[in-house]
Amino acid sequence: MRPAVGAPLRRCTTCGGYAYGGAPACAVCRDLVDGIVEEEWRSFLHRMSIGAESEAGIAELVVDEPDRHDWRVVDAALDRLACPDCGDRLSRGPAGCAACDLAHGFRYAAIETDRPGVPAGNEHAIRVNVSVVRRPHFTSENELLTRRLLLPFLLVGFLPTIEDAHRIKTVAKGSDPKQKALLIEQAIENSLRR
Ligand SMILES: [Zn+2]
Ligand SMILES: [Zn+2]
Repeated sequence: MRPAVGAPLRRCTTCGGYAYGGAPACAVCRDLVDGIVEEEWRSFLHRMSIGAESEAGIAELVVDEPDRHDWRVVDAALDRLACPDCGDRLSRGPAGCAACDLAHGFRYAAIETDRPGVPAGNEHAIRVNVSVVRRPHFTSENELLTRRLLLPFLLVGFLPTIEDAHRIKTVAKGSDPKQKALLIEQAIENSLRR
């Protein structure tokens, strides 16, 4: 189950970071992130009374009309389709696969609904960070690190301001690789306090 707004952050016992934040390297965190998408897909199938045997067919319909579905349903549908060009899960193939790039672009047409009590745009930030963590090979090391470390905070309802985001980015750029994760996390926690 995805963390609720205002829920306390908890640590992942496998990687030691905040749960969800260790993806994609930590398998437990990676499963948690995939679970955000999978949970909504299962409840979508349930609401539509669709059995697992028709999953692929319904996935195609969803991907054809991303603007009619929640982003998690669209992302889960993409996972269920093979790319006609590279054969990987659609949108998650190697850099330079045109069909994957196109599918990735369309995912952003999906519906993003903020939960009650969060700053406007929190759900968008979650969906972007989830997408980055699940397609890590498209993102620079610094950006991936920052986005994965932010994700646990976004999930409980935090959204950095533009100034906060700049501050966090500066820390990511300027710090010693060994201390970088710790310093980014401190920068996030500092903006949370403001
Ligand atoms: Zn972990
Ligand atoms: Zn592809």
